[in-house]
Amino acid sequence: MDVKELRINGGRLKAALEEMAKIGATPGGGVQRLALSDEDRRARDLFVQWLKDLDLEVTVDEMGNIFGRRPGRKSRLAPVLSGSHIDSQPKGGRFDGILGVMGTLEVLRTLNDHRVETERPIVIVDWTNEEGSRFAPAMVASGVWAGALDRDWAYNRADRNGRRFKDELIRIGYKGSAPCKAFPVHCYWEYHIEQGPMLEREGRQIGAPKGILCLHWYDVYIEGEANQVGPTPMEGRHDALCAAAEMILKVNELPVRMGGNMVATVGEIQNHPNSRNIIPDRVHFTVDIRSWDDDLALRAWETVRQDFEAVATRRGCPIRIEETWRVAHSPFDEKRVQMVLDTAGELGYASLRMVSGAGHDASYMNRVCPTAMIFVPSIGGRSHVEVENTAWEDCEAGANVLLHVILKSAGER
Ligand SMILES: [Zn+2]
Repeated sequence: MDVKELRINGGRLKAALEEMAKIGATPGGGVQRLALSDEDRRARDLFVQWLKDLDLEVTVDEMGNIFGRRPGRKSRLAPVLSGSHIDSQPKGGRFDGILGVMGTLEVLRTLNDHRVETERPIVIVDWTNEEGSRFAPAMVASGVWAGALDRDWAYNRADRNGRRFKDELIRIGYKGSAPCKAFPVHCYWEYHIEQGPMLEREGRQIGAPKGILCLHWYDVYIEGEANQVGPTPMEGRHDALCAAAEMILKVNELPVRMGGNMVATVGEIQNHPNSRNIIPDRVHFTVDIRSWDDDLALRAWETVRQDFEAVATRRGCPIRIEETWRVAHSPFDEKRVQMVLDTAGELGYASLRMVSGAGHDASYMNRVCPTAMIFVPSIGGRSHVEVENTAWEDCEAGANVLLHVILKSAGER
């Protein structure tokens, strides 16, 4: 048959996603598969089994990234790489990450079914700890692979219970022997749910992000003075939680103040001692700032940091700030972005050029090789929650686009 006529098996893709959704299934219909947990291990074991069933050459590197290689006619040529992540947020959804891994698997199954040979080898990948919710920061293993983050620094990241990344990697049996280091790659594709409302709003089935917004993370620690709430008069208090409340609203107002084109969020807060009859004396919260414009994001941070200092001084609550993580905005390879749009058109799917507000492993991959992503709609624009959902026909459409961009790029000289 003409490879142009080739289509993936939507029923089989659905079955694979449903099988994976059983691992770490939550009562609310989502999944909890935190990086390097027992659930992550079970999902990896199943994934590796499926790779072996396809006769792929499986490699696990020292960060636990799993690669499955399908040979090409010219095995000396750099492979086409495609994949995403198997880990999830706490009480996360059934599509984030796993769709790109199962989508690529379905592409390879389809190629095997039809005995399609490609010029270049094709490599499927599962990146370790994309989410960063158990071990911060996110995208850590693709970051090490791309040379942007240090391996030993990543090994020493600890979760809330003090368990180290490296020890947990060994515990689940996925500290491989291959060096975690970029090998030559022809191009990288990542198929993912949109995690926002744009495709649904515009009535399009396929999104082609021109790139990923910059991502700046900060941690703010406020010190107040604890005391009994009854006898302590209102004047002269040093209430760390009230200081935090003012600061959090400053973060929320920041995008409007800076003239738009950015988002700013406080998503996590810890209050001590968190008792109804003690004035809070210690608060920690996080700040997340994202924009296509890195300078705007930095100026916004400088503005809000000055606000924080002013609030801290006025309330007599000293603050300490950590600039935890910064990833610059990442414009994808224009030729590959266009290839996604053209391929969607050839297959009869309406598509949309857009940006990605969420971070992805593609962001680090983009530093190593030409990179682009394929998005499909998130119902209600919801993600990182148990109700995260994508229509099965959209999952199938995205995988068909993935199939054909992989076929085209694996045929390039
Ligand atoms: Zn993801």
